[in-house]
Amino acid sequence: MDPSPNILQSSNPGPFYDTSPENLSAARTEFATVLDSGLIRDDEEIRRAHLGTRLSQASPSHTANLVLYPCSTEQVSRISRICWERCIPLTAYSGGTGLCGSLAATRGGVCIDFSKMNKISNLHHSDMDITAQPVVGWMQLNAELAKNGLFFPPDPAPGACIGGMVSFDLLLSHCISVFSQLRLDIPGFPL
Ligand SMILES: Cc1cc2nc3c(=O)[nH]c(=O)nc-3n(C[C@H](O)[C@H](O)[C@H](O)COP(=O)(O)OP(=O)(O)OC[C@H]3O[C@@H](n4cnc5c(N)ncnc54)[C@H](O)[C@@H]3O)c2cc1C
Repeated sequence: MDPSPNILQSSNPGPFYDTSPENLSAARTEFATVLDSGLIRDDEEIRRAHLGTRLSQASPSHTANLVLYPCSTEQVSRISRICWERCIPLTAYSGGTGLCGSLAATRGGVCIDFSKMNKISNLHHSDMDITAQPVVGWMQLNAELAKNGLFFPPDPAPGACIGGMVSFDLLLSHCISVFSQLRLDIPGFPL
């Protein structure tokens, strides 16, 4: 019989993260080649505002070190690469309505706030195919769709956005026998 341990019994130490001040400082210099300085924030108030919400609380220690505000897919991609190369953990923030403490940056690192990416890029009424950036809210989407007699059926919290909905694999609690297609305009999503 094979005596090798299964994944739970193995001695795998888990992912390695580097949130040392030196690494974060060097990363910040690289982020500054991607984003204007005003879109790179480390103020305490902003960092705290991204660790959770009234409905989804987290420990104050679960705060990202930096909050970044990209404006395009390309910027998201470049930020993600820098974090990946430097082993810096990354969390995302869209509408901020997620429950269960899902916004907590338990390992610190970088929080990407998608609030500047709120455009519907393409909306094809004939086949109901939509390309949307992550902070298009479902209510915003419905306002557009209503012009052509269509609607997007899920209805979570009013401020919920496509990014968080896809990430959470939204339960579609009010979606019955209606088919919607959605393409998210950021890299990394298998849609
Ligand atoms: C009144 C109320 C009703 C609700 N009803 C439902 C319901 O019926 N069904 C249901 O499933 N949920 C429901 N929710 C929970 C919540 O609204 C949904 O899960 C919603 O999808 C979260 O979207 P958001 O944009 O607010 O995401 P956020 O809160 O910003 O984020 C949620 C999670 O997604 C990640 N994330 C966010 N944006 C991105 C991105 N662009 N890329 C990668 N990851 C990202 C975050 O890191 C976090 O882990 C409800 C909440 C409330 C307050």
